[in-house]
Amino acid sequence: MIDLHTHTTESDGTFTPQELVGAAADLGLEALAITDHDTFLGYDTALPSAQERGLDLICGIELSTKFRHQSVHLLGYFLKGDPPEDFRQWITSTQKTRHQRNEELVRKLQACGVNIDLAEVYDIGGRLPGRPHFASLLIAKKYVSSRQQAFDEYLSESGKCFVSRDEHSLEECIQRLESSGGIASLAHPIRFLRDSATAEETIRHLMDTGLRAIEVHHSDYTSMDTQSYLEMSQRLKLLSTGGSDFHGANKPMVSLGTGKQGNVCVPKVLLDELRQQA
Ligand code: AMP
Ligand code: FE
Ligand code: FE
Ligand code: ZN
Repeated sequence: MIDLHTHTTESDGTFTPQELVGAAADLGLEALAITDHDTFLGYDTALPSAQERGLDLICGIELSTKFRHQSVHLLGYFLKGDPPEDFRQWITSTQKTRHQRNEELVRKLQACGVNIDLAEVYDIGGRLPGRPHFASLLIAKKYVSSRQQAFDEYLSESGKCFVSRDEHSLEECIQRLESSGGIASLAHPIRFLRDSATAEETIRHLMDTGLRAIEVHHSDYTSMDTQSYLEMSQRLKLLSTGGSDFHGANKPMVSLGTGKQGNVCVPKVLLDELRQQA
């Protein structure tokens, strides 16, 4: 069993990179990819521990992108070693939009009467805080009683304090990943391709821009979803990726490797195929 979709404290997970490697090794995972949102710091920090524990650690990333006015997540995997320096610099430049969004979000929350300041956000969120950290603060300060309520009332697109981020287009991100030696995989497409009639057409369009994989296993899927993405990947000759989308205590229902109540089990052969095509 492998897990190709996980987050650390360098984005919105609650396990440090070292703790995540420890948990993966204890679980007996044959490979782990760290796919933090918009940063490689979790992977970089985890590498020495992975070498120590003899864990096959894969460099990954989950990019926030824009596609037809929607926010879409794109996974990138660097199976042949680390990403090139110019790709890393591009990632660093995209992080600025997250910091700007965070500042604006604090201002909007304050205007809505929420007692919050930017320092608190970085205290709990570390170097690159995201909306889940804002949700944690809203819960801790008793403005809301759950993560869902924090998103519904304040943080989601329909929430009263929503701030949109200046994200790169999905097509540009696919091209950047692929031309930097990575494999681009559409993360949990179920979230934005709800209409299965047009899903395939959209994915064909993305393949024209360089997309090579889709996420076939994910903790949000039913077994029927997995089956239909598997069939689609075979029909379109796409590679398959998969993982739990582990976030530690920020998504307490999701376990490393096995997802929600064991609904994820990613076979190692999928990684062998990815490596062959990398
Ligand atoms: P950010 O990248 O900072 O804009 O935050 C996006 C993250 O917030 C996503 O990756 C999810 O983990 C989380 N998120 C987004 N919408 C919701 C929601 N409605 N409920 C709970 N978590 C959400
Ligand atoms: Fe996340
Ligand atoms: Fe995601
Ligand atoms: Zn994720």
